Amino acid sequence: MSPWEAQLVNVKSTCDLMGLEPAVYEVVSHPKAVLKVALPLKMDDGSVKTYEGVRIHHNDARGPTKGGIRYYPQIDMDTEMALAAWMTWKNAVVDLPYGGGKGGINCDPKTLSMGELERLTRMYAAAIAHFVGVDLDVPAPDVGTNAQIMAWFIDEYYKITGRITPGVITAKPICLGGSLGRTAATGRGCYFAAVEASKAYGIPIKGARVSIQGYGNVALYAAYNFHDAGAKIVSVSDSRGGVYDPSGMDPRKLLAHKEKTGSVVGFKGAEDIGSADPLTVDCDIVVPAALQNAITAANAGNVKAKLIIEGANGPTTPDADKILEDKDVIVVPDICANAGGVTVSYFEWVQNRMGYYWTDEEVDQRLERVMVKAFKDLKEQSDKYEVPLRTGAYALAIGRVAEAMRLLGRI
Ligand code: NAD
Repeated sequence: MSPWEAQLVNVKSTCDLMGLEPAVYEVVSHPKAVLKVALPLKMDDGSVKTYEGVRIHHNDARGPTKGGIRYYPQIDMDTEMALAAWMTWKNAVVDLPYGGGKGGINCDPKTLSMGELERLTRMYAAAIAHFVGVDLDVPAPDVGTNAQIMAWFIDEYYKITGRITPGVITAKPICLGGSLGRTAATGRGCYFAAVEASKAYGIPIKGARVSIQGYGNVALYAAYNFHDAGAKIVSVSDSRGGVYDPSGMDPRKLLAHKEKTGSVVGFKGAEDIGSADPLTVDCDIVVPAALQNAITAANAGNVKAKLIIEGANGPTTPDADKILEDKDVIVVPDICANAGGVTVSYFEWVQNRMGYYWTDEEVDQRLERVMVKAFKDLKEQSDKYEVPLRTGAYALAIGRVAEAMRLLGRI
């Protein structure tokens, strides 16, 4: 099953569970618009190589579409469409006035020179300029892209439109209109989601043994937040391996070690383990914050935690979900748990449009409010239909998108 088909299975079963009119599924099972562009790039050696760029608007009933831009060698339409739909659902769970979108270029940025990367980005921005906009479609960085690439993109966009509208892209560098708090937002949001789950299910954070797969952006800020709230970080990992210390590790010292050696492996006082082992070590809370398909039917039976907070996108496969449900493991799904990033991107868009900027504290308070409400809303749906939190989240999102489509007269 392709990612798009797998996403549709979840959506269809949730529409059926909610007894929604067939028109809802009929509309959301097709992306609203797909743009494909050829990008013939003049390489540094004088040759020309054509890359393919795409941008997808999945559904815009609740507002402009929003989602990242990936630079990745194997971009396929099916995965891009699934990612765009995923953004529709995530934005609806946290109640942002956005639909879902996604896009990218089939390139390996590591093999391009800075000059080639800049020319390719500017060509892509020019080719899709009419398809993005502060009131139409708002991209952001994703796998293989970063704040520098966003800055080239926005400069080209300004030149083409003749308007300085920083809200057309989010997660920009601060000096170009980025928001305070964006870098830490996804990990911070994971922590807020965990606090709400801990209250709802009686799993205290203070003293909890927390294990995290990954030690990148999401994992790092999740680790800081759990540690600062009195939890013990007992395990973390990266692509080279992992470390385990049941007495707890200092996440800031772990980062210093990783910066010095290139990996968390070999951290003083800890036992070296495998990259995937943080998912199954003895602990109370697991945060998968690296890759998709990390918890599968092969390892779900070995999960010892009571609570999983999905920092990564799609870390749990559907068959693993069933095993975890049978073991009474609570899973806070990605479309809620990692929505802190897009939420602060939304705050950036709001600040850009106002031309007035908030302090770190203001951003943080607003993020907490959004995450607390999202968890409460999805828990209500999960209780109402007597289903796990993931299905509750889909019910919340699909219900909100369906309501907007009905009011617009689209269904
Ligand atoms: P990142 O590139 O900063 O970090 C990824 C981490 O995963 C790195 O530490 C890397 O070494 C580790 N890793 C890679 N392969 C691994 C493996 N096989 N086993 C263990 N660790 C491995 O990425 P990120 O921004 O932290 O994103 C992590 C996940 O969170 C992705 O699924 C991403 O889509 C999702 N996400 C990120 C954001 C955000 O704002 N950054 C928002 C929502 C969702």
